[in-house]
Amino acid sequence: MITAYVKIIQRRRGVDAKCASALRSAGTPGQRPGRAIGDSAADQPREPAGTMDQRVRTVTLTLPFHLGKVNCYIVPAGSGFVLIDTGAPSGRRALERELEKAGCRPGDLKLIVLTHGDFDHTGNAASLRRRFGTRIAMHRDDAGMMERGDIFWNRKRRHPAIRTAAAFLFGFGRQERCTPDLFVDEGDDLSEHGFSATVLHIPGHSRGSIAVLTAGGALFCGDLLEYRGKPVLNSIIDDRAAALASVERLRDLPAGMVYTGHGRPFPGERLRREPG
Ligand SMILES: [Zn+2]
Repeated sequence: MITAYVKIIQRRRGVDAKCASALRSAGTPGQRPGRAIGDSAADQPREPAGTMDQRVRTVTLTLPFHLGKVNCYIVPAGSGFVLIDTGAPSGRRALERELEKAGCRPGDLKLIVLTHGDFDHTGNAASLRRRFGTRIAMHRDDAGMMERGDIFWNRKRRHPAIRTAAAFLFGFGRQERCTPDLFVDEGDDLSEHGFSATVLHIPGHSRGSIAVLTAGGALFCGDLLEYRGKPVLNSIIDDRAAALASVERLRDLPAGMVYTGHGRPFPGERLRREPG
């Protein structure tokens, strides 16, 4: 079971292309990993061209056990910074160094926004809150994942053994469990936290997944999408119909660049011009 889950995550990270069957056997029925979002078969992989938001600082952290990499994003907000996702505990020192390099000191981190409750995104939230005196925002529907250390807390198929294995694999222990300070939901304006951005509820990867669209046109979509020469659904999708509906909503947004939880960003135009 543990081996199967490692394979799931490796497939998700694009490490092992042979693991699609393990993914299906582990309980994501009806899912087609790496599905293109309405793109044509002739579309070849290429480097995304678009306007990177220079104010977004991407921090890519390596996950343990060859589980791939995860992105965190440091975004200036007023006189301080906002951090989108926090990575896994194994990347804590690297993330802290990047925050220091950006000039972020205790008191400067205005808010941590978690796009969803998986351990590879929430693993340093509690530690950073203690260190920087900041607050943690996430959607209510994923909060139990972080509070209980259970990535299946709100998912359709639950695997008690994998739950324990996943916490071990990502180094998510009791000290990483924490309760968010505020819940955010569809349409919430984050400007009161010094961050000119809006929250969108985009269920699919998990029930409480959110996206964040900044006034500058940066769209952080968590693990709903990734870019493999074209925008595709993440390999792990809990509710496929909800995920596709979430993608449809993102198409209409004035996003300059789309920043994903794993892998490279891509131009928002790529999402808008794909046929439905
Ligand atoms: Zn992830």
